Formats: sequence, structure tokens, C-alpha cells
Amino acid sequence: MTAHVNSYYAATAHKQDARPALAGSMSADVCVVGAGFTGINAALELAERGVSVVVVEAVRVGFGASGRNGGQIVNGYSRDLDVISARYGETAGRLIGSLANEGGDIIRARAQKYGIQCDLREGMLITALTHKQMRGLEHHVKTWKGFGFEQFELLDKAGLAPHVVTERYVGGLLDKRGGHIHPLNLVQGEAAAFESLGGRIFENSPVVSVDMDNAVVKTASGEVRAKTVLMCGNAYLHGVLPNLENRVMPVSTQVLATEPLGAEAERLLPSNVCVEDANYVLDYFRRTADGRLLYGGGIVYGGTDPVSIKAKVLPLILKTFPSLKDARIDFTWSGNFALTLTRFPQIGRLAPKVYFSHGDSGHGVTTTHLLARLLAESVTGDDARFGVFAGLPYFPFPGGKLLRVPLTVAGSWWYRARDVLGV
Ligand SMILES: Cc1cc2nc3c(=O)[nH]c(=O)nc-3n(C[C@H](O)[C@H](O)[C@H](O)COP(=O)(O)OP(=O)(O)OC[C@H]3O[C@@H](n4cnc5c(N)ncnc54)[C@H](O)[C@@H]3O)c2cc1C
Repeated sequence: MTAHVNSYYAATAHKQDARPALAGSMSADVCVVGAGFTGINAALELAERGVSVVVVEAVRVGFGASGRNGGQIVNGYSRDLDVISARYGETAGRLIGSLANEGGDIIRARAQKYGIQCDLREGMLITALTHKQMRGLEHHVKTWKGFGFEQFELLDKAGLAPHVVTERYVGGLLDKRGGHIHPLNLVQGEAAAFESLGGRIFENSPVVSVDMDNAVVKTASGEVRAKTVLMCGNAYLHGVLPNLENRVMPVSTQVLATEPLGAEAERLLPSNVCVEDANYVLDYFRRTADGRLLYGGGIVYGGTDPVSIKAKVLPLILKTFPSLKDARIDFTWSGNFALTLTRFPQIGRLAPKVYFSHGDSGHGVTTTHLLARLLAESVTGDDARFGVFAGLPYFPFPGGKLLRVPLTVAGSWWYRARDVLGV
């Protein structure tokens, strides 16, 4: 039986027994493919509305990005609200912007309603390495104020000291409605909530085909006959629906967790907020509940693992926190998120009975929760909010499957160079 990757999260997750694999034929109103935040939350939202749902997962609940990410509750999207309005028009921009905090609100409400123990902590800090990035953060505050969001505090270099102790940054922006969680415990808690409402989950059951006309989902040993199918495999969906998979590019990002650092962790991150910097390819880090530093950074377009995760991420840690040069590294792991060309998630219908949602482009902890709700609204007959997202134009990666990785790498050099040079 396949299990989770060897991460800090898998090592500290609440015990949850493996569920059976799908066997034989069964029916349900809705079949969800993929048990990450998107699939599990869409299933839970539907179960709360009285819909019968079966979830089919290739490995374990939370095996993908949802069970191994940085755990950062980042509000909004991978593109800022003014960029979204400029690209998609004022009407769509206003609606999308007005939902920028809803995903985070769903997480908190869900954790409280179902008593999910997921180490939820409040506060998230975006740090600037250059004065140009600081001006970008000031612009961000102004933009969000235009939507009525007042959750931010701009901090100069001295103002960072209560939150993060390093010489790297010139300032930052505290989002008081951000936060952090143990993501594997969150998604497992959400799965348990779904099951408590009568929902069924099958693990170790890779879906091999989807009949788009009849909404029949097949694995090697079973099938689900549904009225509606939700495709939620994100960057881990391989070889099932090539036309869907080619819309996104898997991108891997790497994470390290140190040994428990005791008082040093509290000294470096006194207020226990999580931190990400404002670079195009960004570093993200936070304390864990047991006092480790959990630090992510670096990406590989195409979704392969680097030769050595430690060699890639440790230099980033030491740049930020030189005092950790002798700290032991207890865990290293990698995971794939799904990138879109626009860095904006995509949601829609592939056929009248088959929906999909994917492409959170590295910031998906909150947006998956939002989009899962929109999927459930649409399946139960309310297309108003879903329709705005689903109606946005789709732009394919240039270069097709063969050239999209080298072309994206080339494009990203420009943005990385600007970050390094501060221009
Ligand atoms: C290392 C890392 C760090 C990140 N850090 C952050 C962060 O701090 N904050 C943030 O906002 N975002 C972060 N992200 C992004 C975020 O984790 C994702 O956007 C989000 O978890 C995507 O959820 P999902 O449910 O759409 O996909 P996933 O969680 O990837 O779930 C997809 C599921 O589908 C299953 N599946 C695939 N194919 C099949 C099949 N054929 N049959 C059955 N099941 C299938 C997979 O096994 C998997 O369990 C990070 C991502 C990574 C990889």
C-alpha cells in the first residue's frame, strides 16, 4: 500500500487508518477524483447540502500538495486584485476581489465547527528584500483598501523585530487575517467531517478513466456511476484526461524541517506568524507546533525533484538565519503544485456532467477552500459565483507539452533577475 512522503507532517499527523480501495460498482450523486483540499472540501460542502458523494483517491487523503505544503494561510490569489481587474474587467475583478478572504474564513469556520486540531495560528507576514518590493507592498495595501479590506499593517525594518529576527529584509506587511496550519491534519480532519455526514472515501484507488458523457469513473478494480464528476487531481493527475492535464504545468517546491529548536525558534520568530518573502521565486517559513523551523523555497518547473533537496534549501535558510548553521535537518521533502500561465486558478466544466478545479499556482491553501465551495454551489444549482470564475478566458502555455518547461524557465529568469537587482 502506498503511503505519504516522509515529511514532518506525515510524522506528526493524527493517526488515521487507511481506507479501503474501490472494488466493484457503486453509485452516487457526485464522484470526486482526488482527496486534496479541493476534492475533500467540495465533497464536504456537498455532503453538508445533503448530496451523496464518493471520493476516489489514488494514494491517501492529503497525499498531494495539500498534505505537504508550507501550511501558510495566504489570502488572495497568486496575482493581486488590481491585476485581476485589469486583465478580466471591472465586473469580474470586483467579484473575485470581494472573495479574497473567504477561503481563510472557511478554514477557520471548518476547524471550529468540526473540532479539527490542526495547530491553527493567526498572522502572516510578507517581507521585502528591496525598497522596490516595499513599494509593491504599499500598493497592495492600497489596492485591498479599495475592496474594503483593512487587515494589514506596514512595517519598516525596526517594525519587523517582534516578528522575524534577520538582517535580510528592509520591511514587510503583516496580514492579520493570514495564519498557518498543519495542512495534513487539516485535510484529514475535513475528510473525517465529510465521513461523519455519510460521505465515502476510497484510498489507493487511482482513477484510470472517466466517461465524460455518462459520468462513470473507473479504477483497476471498481467503478463509480455518478450524475456529476469533479476532477480535483491538480498537479498529480497523470494520463487520465490529457486535455485537462495540459492546461497546467506541475512545478515542484522543496521543504526542510529542522530539529526542534527550543528557545531559538521563539527568538527567531517571536510572534509565531508565518513568513513569505516578496520574490518571484519566494522563500516561505514558519515555526511548527513542536518548535522546528519549517522552511520552503526553490522550484523546479516540470515537477521533478532536485538531486538534493537539502543542497537547494539549506543555503536559503542560512542566508535568513545564519545562527542555524549547526541545526540538524530532520526532514526534507518535495511536492508539486499546478501552475497556470496566468498564475490564476482555473475552474469550469469539461462536459455538462464533468467539472474541474486546479492551478492555484503555489498559493492554494485558501483558494482551494473557496473554489471547492463554488463547485458545490454550481453542482447544487447556483452558478452565480462559479460562473464568474468559469467564464474567465483560458491561455495555454506557449510551446506545447515539449517546449513549455524551457520557455517558462526562460521567462522566469527575467523576473528572478529583477528581484536580485532590485529593479
Ligand atoms: C511544497 C509545497 C508548498 C506549498 N506551500 C503553500 C503554502 O504555504 N500556502 C499556500 O497557500 N499554498 C501552498 N502550496 C500550494 C497548495 O498546497 C496547493 O495549491 C493545494 O494544496 C492544491 O490542493 P488540491 O486539492 O487542488 O491538489 P492536491 O493536494 O495536489 O490533491 C490532488 C489529489 O488528487 C489525487 N489524484 C491525482 N490523480 C488521481 C487519480 N488518477 N485518481 C485518484 N486520485 C488522484 C492525488 O493523489 C492528490 O491526493 C504549496 C504546494 C507545495 C507542493
